[in-house]
Amino acid sequence: MYADQPATQMASSQRRLIILPIGSCEQHGPHLPIDTDLRIATLLAAKLTDALRENEPLQLPAIPFSCSWEHKGLGTIALNVSTLAAVLHDTARSLQTWHTPVLLILVNWHGGNDLLGALATEITAAEGIPTAVIPAVSQVGKAWDESGITTAKDIHAGAVETSIIQAFWPKLITGAISARDHCEPQIAPAKAQAVMQSLGIRAVTSSGIWGAPEQADKAKGKRLIAALVEKMRGQVIKLLELVDEQATREEESEDHARPDDSRNLGDTTPRPANGERHHASVS
Ligand SMILES: [Zn+2]
Repeated sequence: MYADQPATQMASSQRRLIILPIGSCEQHGPHLPIDTDLRIATLLAAKLTDALRENEPLQLPAIPFSCSWEHKGLGTIALNVSTLAAVLHDTARSLQTWHTPVLLILVNWHGGNDLLGALATEITAAEGIPTAVIPAVSQVGKAWDESGITTAKDIHAGAVETSIIQAFWPKLITGAISARDHCEPQIAPAKAQAVMQSLGIRAVTSSGIWGAPEQADKAKGKRLIAALVEKMRGQVIKLLELVDEQATREEESEDHARPDDSRNLGDTTPRPANGERHHASVS
């Protein structure tokens, strides 16, 4: 379900998942919209929500901005790391008061948000709501390679992102794309993030493109999204199983430690907000 329902419809003993897209708003060369990453994160989240419908997930509206200082300048709105951390902690704390979710899934597309992994661990520990970020940046990189869209070093606003925008929002592509738009700085992909972090993308590309947009292929873009959603679905199902197993172990050790029910009165051990547990179906 989505956030277009009254709060009274949000109550569910079956709900296992809250899915929150993390967008970013940044320059994507002269041909792609500045909300490219926001669109792709929201698309992945919506398809994941559909793919996991037996768990009654709730997809929240996306957070539109995140950590994009490497693209600073026209078209880019960036949040400080501490601002994004505060927003996500507050979101998790708010969800805790709903007494239904057991797992918060952050769906991210923006490569500059690798801080989200550490943040998810921190939110899990501090807010008592298990939180994970998917797809991992490494997972996106792998899917990117497996898509066969290009063999160029394609990092930003290149063949992959152009293929996805062509596949799902073709009218948003501005102007013709030619071989002249190809920009492939002589920097290994593994070092790309370090260059972006320390120098910003403009140090290596004046157009804002790092890759081969002229090689875009919308059919392959569509297949890449489908393949990623399938991987993400498997990952979430596995996470749900692990959350259930951990809750069962904690419950058993509590029962073992407290044979007398009257001692439960002083119990402040965090438990999953959803008292009922349902076993996720495995594909
Ligand atoms: Zn992007």
